[in-house]
Amino acid sequence: MLEMAIASGKGGVGKSTVSATIAITLARRRKVIAVDADADAPNMHLILGLSEEWEWEQPYSESMVARIVTEKCTRCGECMTVCPYKAIYVDEEGNYVVNPVICEGCETCSLVCPVKGAIVRDETLSGMLRMTRTRYGFPLISAKLEPGRPNSGKLVTEEKTKAKEMTDDDTVIVVDSAAGIGCQVVSSLAGANMAILVAEPTPASFNALKRVHKLTKHFMQPAAVVINKWDMNPDLAAEIEAYARENNLDMLGKVPFDDSIPKSMAMMVPVTEAFPDSPASKALLEVARRVEAILDEWSSWFMRFRPKKPEPYRPIIIKPEGF
Ligand code: SF4
Ligand code: SF4
Repeated sequence: MLEMAIASGKGGVGKSTVSATIAITLARRRKVIAVDADADAPNMHLILGLSEEWEWEQPYSESMVARIVTEKCTRCGECMTVCPYKAIYVDEEGNYVVNPVICEGCETCSLVCPVKGAIVRDETLSGMLRMTRTRYGFPLISAKLEPGRPNSGKLVTEEKTKAKEMTDDDTVIVVDSAAGIGCQVVSSLAGANMAILVAEPTPASFNALKRVHKLTKHFMQPAAVVINKWDMNPDLAAEIEAYARENNLDMLGKVPFDDSIPKSMAMMVPVTEAFPDSPASKALLEVARRVEAILDEWSSWFMRFRPKKPEPYRPIIIKPEGF
């Protein structure tokens, strides 16, 4: 089994289009399982032309929210004062109530509440895990977070666990990561054998590429780069290529700007199928063929592009207001 994660550090740069093309191409010769690891905004099923009908769906719970037991509450208001997320309000009847969409389950309210048992915690639905089969023969595992539930790396891990339960030795798992470098992306990259980093020639995307590249080095993963819409800024595209060369990243290819991509998305058909002769389709298929070649010569590619030493991982910690 081999797992590859496609990441970008920034949303909207064409990562899912690259992931879908790679999955479709590899599936012609290999057993493939695709994982859409962006539970906030899952879209791989749309790019692959699938509806919202799933072969199976499972509720997924991992978080707890506070609930105030009205009969026990003395209405002292302490909990509302300390809640860092302002999740507690007073309703029309004067009762203190927790808004479960905002509550993060931090338990601060329980710590200050003077009445035993006035605040309890309930498990809440975090999202749904689901699976369907694509018309290209491979299954797609996807997840969807409930509105207001926090981004979850655990949910991505759960998706990857489901994928691994369906694999055999020859399976390739193609993980389409979320944007950013948050816990969903960390979970997407953790355990992957290689990473494919997608960037556009914009300063924001280039910076995001560097950040996500650090993560791949932390995991000691060999990585490769795809530049999308490279002709929008050839100078910056050349800088990204130079960065790839200097940092031992394999350059997989450059995809030109091409409005056949947004058109194919609107049609819910992969661009390589809707507009096979378009410049973007040809470039994407070339990228996918390069990935096939990497798998065919896996050991030598892995040794050549594996980072020489791990990058220390420094998570960015954002504290809620008032802490
Ligand atoms: S658990 Fe935390 S977020 Fe939820 S209501 Fe209590 S203090 Fe607010
Ligand atoms: S701190 Fe406890 S008793 Fe006071 S308002 Fe909140 S739930 Fe009620």
